[in-house]
Amino acid sequence: MSNQIYDVVIIGGGVAGTALLYSLATFTDLKRIALLEKYPSIAAVNSKATNNSQTIHCGDIETNYTLEKR
Ligand SMILES: Cc1cc2nc3c(=O)[nH]c(=O)nc-3n(C[C@H](O)[C@H](O)[C@H](O)COP(=O)(O)OP(=O)(O)OC[C@H]3O[C@@H](n4cnc5c(N)ncnc54)[C@H](O)[C@@H]3O)c2cc1C
Repeated sequence: MSNQIYDVVIIGGGVAGTALLYSLATFTDLKRIALLEKYPSIAAVNSKATNNSQTIHCGDIETNYTLEKR
């Protein structure tokens, strides 16, 4: 890969990186997009279903933080 030229290289195949890859591949005309993941498969860290609580939220329900900290 070191000799290849890409329009975009995304580092990390979690939910953020794969969502960005999908968005760029679907909604732009970029032809050379790479996704680099350090583990053998994608979503092996926080985005792995068994590594998180499996609920969908945007962070606003973290009630242990004060309003200022959010
Ligand atoms: C215990 C726990 C419970 C959670 N519960 C919830 C929940 O209920 N609801 C919710 O919405 N969110 C929850 N979250 C948060 C949510 O899981 C994360 O915010 C989300 O998965 C982060 O996604 P990400 O793509 O940013 O990061 P990650 O999923 O961590 O992906 C980053 C990727 O980058 C790769 N990477 C890192 N460094 C490199 C490198 N140098 N080169 C190549 N690849 C690299 C990693 O291997 C990994 O695959 C929870 C998190 C934890 C830890």
